[in-house]
Amino acid sequence: MTEEVRVRFAPSPTGFLHIGGVRTALFNWLFARHFNGKFILRIEDTDHERSTEDSIHEIIESMRWLGLDWDEGPFRQTERQSLYTQKVQELLDGQKAYLCYCTAEELEHRRKMAQDQGAKPKYDGKCRSRTEFPEGAPHVIRFKCPQEGNVIVNDILRGNVTFDLAEQDDFIILRTDGSPTYNFVVVVDDADMRISHVIRGDDHLSNTPRQALLNDALGFTRPQFAHISMILGEDKSRLSKRHGATATLAYRDMGYLPNALVNFLARLGWSHGDQELFTIDELIKHFTLQHVTTSAAVFNPEKLLWVNEQWIQSDEKISSLELAKHLEPILVQEKVLPENHSKALEDIAKVIPSLRQRAKTLIEMAHGAEFYLKDEVTFDEKAKAKFLKPEVKPLFETLVAGLETMVEPLNHDVVELLFKKTVEDAGLKLGKLAQPVRVALTGKTASPGIFDVVLLLGKKRTIERLQKAF
Ligand code: GLU
Repeated sequence: MTEEVRVRFAPSPTGFLHIGGVRTALFNWLFARHFNGKFILRIEDTDHERSTEDSIHEIIESMRWLGLDWDEGPFRQTERQSLYTQKVQELLDGQKAYLCYCTAEELEHRRKMAQDQGAKPKYDGKCRSRTEFPEGAPHVIRFKCPQEGNVIVNDILRGNVTFDLAEQDDFIILRTDGSPTYNFVVVVDDADMRISHVIRGDDHLSNTPRQALLNDALGFTRPQFAHISMILGEDKSRLSKRHGATATLAYRDMGYLPNALVNFLARLGWSHGDQELFTIDELIKHFTLQHVTTSAAVFNPEKLLWVNEQWIQSDEKISSLELAKHLEPILVQEKVLPENHSKALEDIAKVIPSLRQRAKTLIEMAHGAEFYLKDEVTFDEKAKAKFLKPEVKPLFETLVAGLETMVEPLNHDVVELLFKKTVEDAGLKLGKLAQPVRVALTGKTASPGIFDVVLLLGKKRTIERLQKAF
């Protein structure tokens, strides 16, 4: 690539950041990082009625969580009005746009008439040739759209896409209240921000002829377009709430690792051989538009869960300390730790190696860590009734006596020997002791290996819990 790659993510802040939207952001981000280019964040907030500050915050929080950092921005279109006014004026001066005074009723009336005659409902160009301009009357500004021939848009993924100009009309670029419309601001901003590639969902493909024409009329070089396919649910309908959570941050709260979600989203519509698991560096290294498909990508929640599990399990992909950073807010969310806790990440990280092989999500991991992080054991009452019977009490006493003689840090083999000797002397199998001890120390019947649990808890806490079990 000879020119500098400059791409943008341009969300409209009218709600949470949709998981499909964030995949578009990711493709742009990967493309920029692969080519050492720039990734620009532009908030398209010209729709005053639907845009909210909360939505802007949520978009930014989602991107930060996923590590999709931007090099420029966030820009807000509402702060760029003077540039738009200037460009509208340029079009007016060049006779490429005109003032339109048609009222909503007139338009509706003529639309109906056209429809009755079997014509397409589009603006009929009435004000194109207007010569008198009623002073102070409300008006919009329309782009004078070429009326014959085709407009051909070259799309990197789809080749030349031809649009018949007869289908286009003189669309509005400035509304009655003076606010510019989406198709207009996108073109002005993409040019002003020197965007080289517009990578976005194919729901915008139908906007490209208008944008291409505006680019030409304003004397801008068109950016290169790449329209990626939408994400569909497993029933092949457009991804929606019915298929599961669609808000990006919902995945954080459900215990997904940001890098696992990035890994999963990157594979929706892009491939690198049949590799499924990628570190972020590998994604950056391999990502180009060459292997982006135009066929619809299907969102498979089981696969996402699998990818998450693979990430949680691999300490090559993510260290325990790094994992602890993501686990900490989930521990608070799940009330394993109070909001104002003072646990250091290093301490939380200690329990992770024993848990990461058995957790698919950080929520599962948070509950697995309860025995270590909470001061009190929360008992599964059924387990307690089944395993903490009076006959194991003498065995617990032997263990306590043995532990008392040990020095800290406890040694795995020495602890194991103590357990083995205790059951041997009683003529029992290890399981007969291990399971009651597990319940006494963790409150549950499933936990990391019992000797690991003892080592993690340390001498004092182990002894206390063994003594308090009955
Ligand atoms: N603001 C538009 C949207 O959120 C994106 C526009 C674009 O990428 O050109 O759908």
